[in-house]
Amino acid sequence: MSALSELYEEITHCQKCEMARYRTRTVPGEGAEDADIIFIGEAPGWYEDQQGRPFVGPAGKFLEELLDLINLKRQQVYIANVIKCRPPANRDPLPQEMLNCRVWLERQIELIRPRIIVTLGRYSMALFFPQKSIGRIHGTAEKRGGIIYYAMYHPAAALHQQSLRETIKVDMLKIPQLLAQAKDMPEVEKELEIKQLNMFEV
Ligand code: URA
Repeated sequence: MSALSELYEEITHCQKCEMARYRTRTVPGEGAEDADIIFIGEAPGWYEDQQGRPFVGPAGKFLEELLDLINLKRQQVYIANVIKCRPPANRDPLPQEMLNCRVWLERQIELIRPRIIVTLGRYSMALFFPQKSIGRIHGTAEKRGGIIYYAMYHPAAALHQQSLRETIKVDMLKIPQLLAQAKDMPEVEKELEIKQLNMFEV
């Protein structure tokens, strides 16, 4: 059993918040265990809760379309969420729930050791770009240590607001160049950044 599968086991039994009572399944995340890129969404929705897999509903379909634009399949990247259980009635996650769940995401990042962390939407952005606004920073990257942090709108935003579709596509198309840059960065800096990983409280 890989360290990541062992982590999934732990997440499955998590009882840190009341969401444990309402979930059908936990949704830890999935993808390549050695992925260069990790995409981090908000929280599972109805489809994800049913299947125990991230981004398998309409937002996931659009995410797959976006990945296709840069010739990637979802199995080649890693996809996770800030929150591992579906909040009741799809409400926004509470700060305490984000705090309870952050250890899981930290451990995923430590195990996967990505070169790029892509935040999808406000909640995920807040963990890595505190006090920033998605409208301002989407499509911009920040290099910290050996990792590139990159903020994007959530794919679901484009489902509600058609005008964002093109914006999200344009932002996605910048990723290959960022990946090339990240691959040129010294591995040792990446390791250091992961060791000191600083996720912010929201
Ligand atoms: N939205 C998310 O943020 N995550 C999912 O897994 C699905 C929809």
